[in-house]
Amino acid sequence: MDCLFCKIIAGEIPSSKVYEDEYIYAFKDINPEAPCHVLVIPKKHIASMDEITKENSIYVAKIFEKIPEIAKLGGANNGYRVISNCGADAGQTVFHLHYHVIGGTELPIHVFPEK
Ligand code: AMP
Ligand code: ZN
Repeated sequence: MDCLFCKIIAGEIPSSKVYEDEYIYAFKDINPEAPCHVLVIPKKHIASMDEITKENSIYVAKIFEKIPEIAKLGGANNGYRVISNCGADAGQTVFHLHYHVIGGTELPIHVFPEK
């Protein structure tokens, strides 16, 4: 399967690892938007949040169990935000489920700051 994040999990494309276990892999975003910008992904190919089912949701549970630890490992010691872009309007560019963990600085509260 031609999936960038499956290749990162397989070690075929280099990444800056933050955390790994049987279920999940976490690595630094190549184009960080904050001092802490870590991507957390399941080791099973799930295309997006739309593809989460009761059969594969264990991977999502494992991701959220570990996010507090991963945020600290990534350098967010004073709070963080978790984002998952799903589909075209949200601007999803990589179709392997991923959660952005962003922090390490005070974040703007609004999605549309001019509002
Ligand atoms: P999204 O737009 O939500 O699909 O997010 C995809 C994210 O993957 C973006 O923030 C990219 O900067 C990041 N990204 C793309 N290629 C790589 C890579 N090779 N290593 C780390 N992060 C990547
Ligand atoms: Zn994949």
